[in-house]
Amino acid sequence: MAKELPKTAKTVVIGGGIIGCSTAYHLGKLGWTDTVLLERKKLTSGTTFHAAGLVGQLRTNANITQLLGYSVDLYKRLEEETGLGTGWKMNGGLRLACNEERWTEVRRQATTAQSFGLEMQLLTPQEAFDLWPLMTIDDLVGAAFLPTDGQANPSDITQALAKGARMSGVSIFEDTEVLDLEIDKGKIRAVVTAQGRIECERVVVCAGQWTRAFAARFGVNVPLVSVEHQYIITESFGVPSNLPTLRDPDRLTYYKEEVGGIVMGGYEPNPIAWAANGIPEGFHYTLLDSNFDHFEQIMEQALGRVPALENVGVKQLLNGPESFTPDGNFILGEAPELKNFFIGAGFNAFGIASAGGAGMALAEWVAKGEPPYDLWPVDIRRFGRPHFDTDWVRTRTLEAYGKHYTMGWPFEEHSSGRPCRKSPLYDRLKAQGACFGEKLGWERPNWFADLFANEEPKDVYSYTRQNWFEAVGREHKAVREAAVIFDQTSFAKFVLKGRDAEAALSWIASNDVAKSVGSLVYTQMLNDKGGIECDVTVARTAENEYYIVTGTGFATHDFNWIARNIPAEMHAELVDVTSAYSVLSLMGPNSRAVLEKVTGSDVSNAAFPFGQVRTIGIAGCPVRALRITYVGELGYELHIPIEYATTVYDVLMASGGELGLVNAGYRAIESCRLEKGYRAWGSDIGPDHTPVEAGLGWAVKMRKNIPFRGREAIERQLSGGVKKRLACFVPDDADAVLLGRETIYRDGKRVGWLSSGGFGYTLGKPIGYGYVRNPDGVTEDFVLSGTYELDIARQRIPCKVSLAPLYDPDMARIKA
Ligand SMILES: Cc1cc2nc3c(=O)[nH]c(=O)nc-3n(C[C@H](O)[C@H](O)[C@H](O)COP(=O)(O)OP(=O)(O)OC[C@H]3O[C@@H](n4cnc5c(N)ncnc54)[C@H](O)[C@@H]3O)c2cc1C
Repeated sequence: MAKELPKTAKTVVIGGGIIGCSTAYHLGKLGWTDTVLLERKKLTSGTTFHAAGLVGQLRTNANITQLLGYSVDLYKRLEEETGLGTGWKMNGGLRLACNEERWTEVRRQATTAQSFGLEMQLLTPQEAFDLWPLMTIDDLVGAAFLPTDGQANPSDITQALAKGARMSGVSIFEDTEVLDLEIDKGKIRAVVTAQGRIECERVVVCAGQWTRAFAARFGVNVPLVSVEHQYIITESFGVPSNLPTLRDPDRLTYYKEEVGGIVMGGYEPNPIAWAANGIPEGFHYTLLDSNFDHFEQIMEQALGRVPALENVGVKQLLNGPESFTPDGNFILGEAPELKNFFIGAGFNAFGIASAGGAGMALAEWVAKGEPPYDLWPVDIRRFGRPHFDTDWVRTRTLEAYGKHYTMGWPFEEHSSGRPCRKSPLYDRLKAQGACFGEKLGWERPNWFADLFANEEPKDVYSYTRQNWFEAVGREHKAVREAAVIFDQTSFAKFVLKGRDAEAALSWIASNDVAKSVGSLVYTQMLNDKGGIECDVTVARTAENEYYIVTGTGFATHDFNWIARNIPAEMHAELVDVTSAYSVLSLMGPNSRAVLEKVTGSDVSNAAFPFGQVRTIGIAGCPVRALRITYVGELGYELHIPIEYATTVYDVLMASGGELGLVNAGYRAIESCRLEKGYRAWGSDIGPDHTPVEAGLGWAVKMRKNIPFRGREAIERQLSGGVKKRLACFVPDDADAVLLGRETIYRDGKRVGWLSSGGFGYTLGKPIGYGYVRNPDGVTEDFVLSGTYELDIARQRIPCKVSLAPLYDPDMARIKA
């Protein structure tokens, strides 16, 4: 007789695919045995049952790579632990390169793998052939081999995870669809099924392609859409069972051995969206009709690589839908819109590879309120306004799918769904040669082409210096020697208001924000481990009001962090005012002189010193001017009610011309900030790094007796020391191209990787930042006493290290 549903549970996991089962398994391991998993039909009956089962590990982010590495470790031992077969085989994974640019990409990936501690060998074509004798190699330049990659049977792994979960005490119910949730005043109370309701505090939605529609009913946005994905399964033709998996990105295809035959699939440049109007009723253990016409382009590519396929019978062309996302990464974490509503979905055809790690991370997130480490690339809070429009999401997702195997160029931009969010200056800047990039839907000028010299405002991608190198150099020089305007309208801006605004922000911010009205404070916001959750500028605009500015991409994340951390008993409300203000950043040694020409307000250093905010008048506009800089020069961020933006811009440009004022873009900002040593959240700093480790200890109010979140962790580090420290690296070779993730060697020993890389034009050299790590502790002395090399695309080059900024405008010279 079927078990009865319990009346209560601490946590309900919705969905019995590989992700739900892995999450339930890990909740059980954490002792959260009062967990119930509900599956609408049968376990694996959604997408999981028809996955090909390749398990690769390398991603461009260290922590996501670590997550996938965890999957491998788990799959290795799961069969022994549960007694159920998993089909796990660690035959390794090959990746081919068929042209010089791809070979550079593969060599850079090999450096990335080495940085993250993952073994990846570079092979000659013949060595690759020895591992994979079915393929032709006449077009190969080289290959890479990851010995710990593998393959598994997706359904078997899922059943083993489910068994492991049950062994820990988790209950699993099949044929039990969650029909509804009961939510009362923003609190989850129960899940409702046809078999009864279960009172619960938390739900974890791992409902695959069904997740978006399900979550939307409760106001939660999960931007994923379904896309068709096909692969063939051949008859057996004696393929050895120890064959590694193979990825042939230049031919858009992947391969694995299966019962003596081959599974081969690929990523068409013209993917087909599925179920745009909703997933049909009764879709379980269901496949779509094989689409031979569409697969022909993939088949042709494969025949060129594996000629034997010509004469082998194809058992099946399997067409299954899978959920894909606009940036090709999955979606994990607690929904910003609803507390205790967790998501694990959108796995972009690497859900089998991800499930072990993703389930582990999600279970920790549920049980401990935070992930085990920074998971920003997959964090649900990385999305924003455009992602509420499913049509926009679908357009962008199809682009991302089509680019799955294309070259992953440095500085590559998406082209679909643009322009979406435009600053009022967009048309003006475009007419002046702006080449735009895009972030969270916003069009942002990256650099300006000289239209009079017939330069084209278009990125030409390459692994060497790109076509915009000189143009950005011109803008950089203008920042250092004259003045520029950066259109930074896309900045996220919030107002925190209420009688307890100061007390609330003092708790959330690690720097002292209890300053007089008119003050500006650069501050981090920390988690309990002292990790940097937000990196923002805070202006006190009234006794009970703060104006908070943060990076474009962090709008949802930072809003959520601040709002959730306002102590319950305090009266303070956070409002997103991003769309109310344009931001023109007037930067450079002549910026004050430019401002003096357009305002009657006193902007002298005495009246308007650094770290202050003033309202000044320009052309009838009340401009909120923040005296601050991210480029290391005198400068002002001008926050302007949006209807005034073009007026103020025109007045500034008309008056500033004789002082050398020109437009400049985000790539010049990046170059200047690297020279000045300003940290970037998401790369140099984040939840895994504390201000002490990042060299930002000066911005923490330790000398004041004000409690704030994360204080104890910082105290512990200040007394006990740290195990890593952010440092700056300058290669001796001025032509080296640093992109981030290059391996750092200290006295010949691997100690970390670059979190940022770029070029400093005043310095005339590449600049990188990265943490120097040592389990026995890292002091300033330890950092500075080493001899360093950077590994770039598997070549080591000597470099200098520094803990101080390379550029100091007061000294007007470069220090390094
Ligand atoms: C053709 C193809 C090939 C692939 N190859 C690979 C590969 O080689 N390697 C790899 O790593 N990945 C691969 N994948 C991807 C992988 O299959 C998926 O990422 C993974 O299976 C997703 O698992 P999931 O648990 O998120 O979703 P699903 O398996 O779809 O599970 C979601 C479950 O939720 C249930 N559900 C939905 N709504 C409710 C509700 N209201 N109440 C209760 N239950 C509900 C559904 O019935 C379903 O069982 C492939 C995918 C496809 C389509």
